[in-house]
Amino acid sequence: MFALIDHLITLDVGGRNSRVLSDASRETASHDDEPLVKQAAERLRSVMSPGSTVLISTGFPITSVGSPETDGPLGAVVLGRALDTLGVTPVFIVEPTLEPAIEVLCTELRLDAPNIETVDPPGSTERAATKPSRGLLGRYDPVAVVAVEKPGRTADGTYRSMTGEDISRSVGPVDDLFGEAVDRGILTIGVGDGGNEIGMGSVREAVERKIDHGETIACVQPVDALVVAGISNWGAYGIVAGLSLLSGRNLLHTGRIDRSLLEACVSAGCVDGLTAQSTPSVDGISGDHHAQMVELLYGGLTAHL
Ligand code: ZN
Ligand code: ZN
Repeated sequence: MFALIDHLITLDVGGRNSRVLSDASRETASHDDEPLVKQAAERLRSVMSPGSTVLISTGFPITSVGSPETDGPLGAVVLGRALDTLGVTPVFIVEPTLEPAIEVLCTELRLDAPNIETVDPPGSTERAATKPSRGLLGRYDPVAVVAVEKPGRTADGTYRSMTGEDISRSVGPVDDLFGEAVDRGILTIGVGDGGNEIGMGSVREAVERKIDHGETIACVQPVDALVVAGISNWGAYGIVAGLSLLSGRNLLHTGRIDRSLLEACVSAGCVDGLTAQSTPSVDGISGDHHAQMVELLYGGLTAHL
């Protein structure tokens, strides 16, 4: 089942070589050729217990319109709701522009009074960033830190879109949170689809060799468990499917609910990351296709559990 889930979520709808990055991640020493969702779900399960906290960061700014994209928030909140169901408190770490979308997504999934922390991009105020990510580990004492489709710092210290554009002024930087978590021995998990997201440092060489603009966009921050998917939301859904298999209860949502989540996300200001349009789509793929992917995962789990 885990291998099947990995296979489904790496469907390369965008033609971006996500399966190559997925294979590279599975072949890293820490993953020992095991399915990526199994690695991520098992490691999460091994550190969490009722009452513990997990930080989940998401939010990829589309600078041409000044809005966050629809890939990331859905996955982050679906994962947060699954953790909440298992008694773990999720805390969402996002740019201020994404806060309204996280709130409505949590409402849609009946995740009451969500904890949301905002991290300012350097370009958001006249002064330097006023709310950095520093201090969040001390305040929340999390057992894990997760990034879902979160821009990651490149070798020259900038943040890059998948076409290589410098988007640094719009990104609320959270790489230090992951670096600090690694130093403290806190579990780090990354979910990405392009090579420029936090966690892709684990497969940096493959990003540089196999991905368009790879040498410019490759993120240098590695994580303990890197899940690569065709679309990052699917990667997070895959981890939720993995947690479902391990806990014996279906923690995923249905395709119909995925459609309403996407509508809510767009109405709260998110845009398609590929087209920069306010349409119910993710990475240029229609909401109906995303709903079908969720139905495949949900149906598979229902049959198996
Ligand atoms: Zn991406
Ligand atoms: Zn994406």
